[in-house]
Amino acid sequence: MVSFKCKDIGMDCQFEATAPNVQELDEKIAQHAREAHNIPNLDKEMWIKIHRAEK
Ligand SMILES: [Zn+2]
Repeated sequence: MVSFKCKDIGMDCQFEATAPNVQELDEKIAQHAREAHNIPNLDKEMWIKIHRAEK
């Protein structure tokens, strides 16, 4: 299992997600970014931050 917390990338947000693998976790994060943060497409730098924060 891998997990991600939005606050680990400096967002003022309580979102946490877990998934069986990074690919599914990334999908959950992309969906959360669209719905909660109004970010339809995360750019490359955001993904680098996100992948560092995933564990
Ligand atoms: Zn968030």
